[in-house]
Amino acid sequence: MVTPMKNRPYILSESNWKDIKTQPIDLVVLPWGATEAHNYHLPYGTDNYQVEAIAAEAGRIAYEEGSRVMILPVVPFGVNTGQADIRLDMNMNPSTQLSVLRDLIEVLDRQGFRKLLVLNGHGGNDFKPILRELGLEFPGIYLALCDWFRVPKKEKLFEKPGDHADEMETSLMMYLHGDLVRPLEESGNGHTRQSVVTGIREGWAWSERTWSQVTEDTGTGDPSRSTVVKGERVFREVTEKIGSLMSELCQLDLNRQYE
Ligand SMILES: [Zn+2]
Repeated sequence: MVTPMKNRPYILSESNWKDIKTQPIDLVVLPWGATEAHNYHLPYGTDNYQVEAIAAEAGRIAYEEGSRVMILPVVPFGVNTGQADIRLDMNMNPSTQLSVLRDLIEVLDRQGFRKLLVLNGHGGNDFKPILRELGLEFPGIYLALCDWFRVPKKEKLFEKPGDHADEMETSLMMYLHGDLVRPLEESGNGHTRQSVVTGIREGWAWSERTWSQVTEDTGTGDPSRSTVVKGERVFREVTEKIGSLMSELCQLDLNRQYE
């Protein structure tokens, strides 16, 4: 039996022309992920599943508060320039992301949409310089960015620090898609080698990491203390905050952005 479709008029993929033709929309949201290895226990689509679920739930919260929000489908490829030798990590270059975003913003701008939020779910995607450039090109549309993984207070919710296929991502996937998570005994420990350069190690200098030299199992961060409960907790915290962000952006008077 086919499960009946939930009524989610704020999800573009599930909407039809009859609805969309006249539906008032104040904010369009574009979720953006990546397709990449996540240690031995999480699927390649982890970033996409996460950002899609977060966008949908935050959208529901905003919509039910009366906000006129519309969530676009997730863009599934991200910047994986440091993982060139990791099998089937599907890189999309920053310059390609600029082109993709320009095309999508051009559609919105031409059709009179005035606000876009890019909801990013992958650390390698750096949309700030791209949105600065497109902001100059399209002064009539307000462009905002949120990296969802910066929203939660990780040190409060999680025991082991990390940033890729770590305790947070693993817990969240256990909650969202437990069927796609391998038993934790099968995961690597996510051990991360540090740079020999002091400034890079301390975080005030940067160079692209050659992922295959930094970690054996492609994870950075120990996933062993992950639980469904932690996953639900972080999902609630993130979606409530991003739901409020969406509502605030919907209401934002573009002529009075500062007080
Ligand atoms: Zn990830």
